[in-house]
Amino acid sequence: MKPSQLPSPFTFSQSSLQDYNDCPRRFQLRYIDHLAWPAVETEPTQEYEKHQQEGSLFHRMVQQNIIGLPAERLSSLAQSERLRRWWDAYQQHAPALIGYTLYPEYTLSAPLGEHRLVAKYDLIAIKPGEKAIIYDWKTYRKRPRDEYLATRWQTRLYSALLGKAGSHLNDGKPIISERTEMTYWFSNFPNHPAKFAYSKSKSEKDWGVIEKIVNEISSAGEFPMSEDEHPCRFCAYRSYCDRGAKAGEWDDFDGEIDAEESFEIDFEQIGEIAF
Ligand code: SF4
Repeated sequence: MKPSQLPSPFTFSQSSLQDYNDCPRRFQLRYIDHLAWPAVETEPTQEYEKHQQEGSLFHRMVQQNIIGLPAERLSSLAQSERLRRWWDAYQQHAPALIGYTLYPEYTLSAPLGEHRLVAKYDLIAIKPGEKAIIYDWKTYRKRPRDEYLATRWQTRLYSALLGKAGSHLNDGKPIISERTEMTYWFSNFPNHPAKFAYSKSKSEKDWGVIEKIVNEISSAGEFPMSEDEHPCRFCAYRSYCDRGAKAGEWDDFDGEIDAEESFEIDFEQIGEIAF
């Protein structure tokens, strides 16, 4: 068996866990070999990139609005029909969070063995001692099924990590899993958010799986290609794997690649606990 290839300490995020889940080889190419993106993920590229840029700008506008900039001033940033539509939808459906303390664009981290887990939240809303709600804004073109979202690493890690590492946001008291909820709000489907209630049993199960997968990756000597070729259609590493020269069509894009998930971690801003 080959020795472990994972640099240590390694910072695991929902994106890297999801990459490993979808295809171990993609994890290796991206996080161990640090290969640049050799191929476009979807065609036509221009439309994909435009959607990515608008998604990033939309997130910034929402964040700025939450920290106090008036919506009317931010409206001038929405220069395209699509972004205007998202922004209008957000203004009409922005969550009513009276009595909550809001933490937009907030990063939490916790050590896990020799490694680290990290998550950047679009918004954490806390009513200390009462309720914690995680919000994530999605600009997906298609509304994923709730069953699909429930299995995603983002849903599992974000709720679990808030419970482990977020007590300083809750007046120093533990965040109760049963009082934690995660909401995905879709700018293209503003009336159909996806909500996931959390629980102690889910938290225990998620931590068990997180520890297992981190141990598995830490000791892995090989990272095989996924047997299923579905993830290859929108993967930038197709040429390394001989899994097709042409990118998947933008019209078939089903939201599995999430432009908003790539972010720079600001370690100055991370709230971390030791456990
Ligand atoms: S092209 Fe397919 S096999 Fe290769 S890294 Fe991407 S998902 Fe994995």
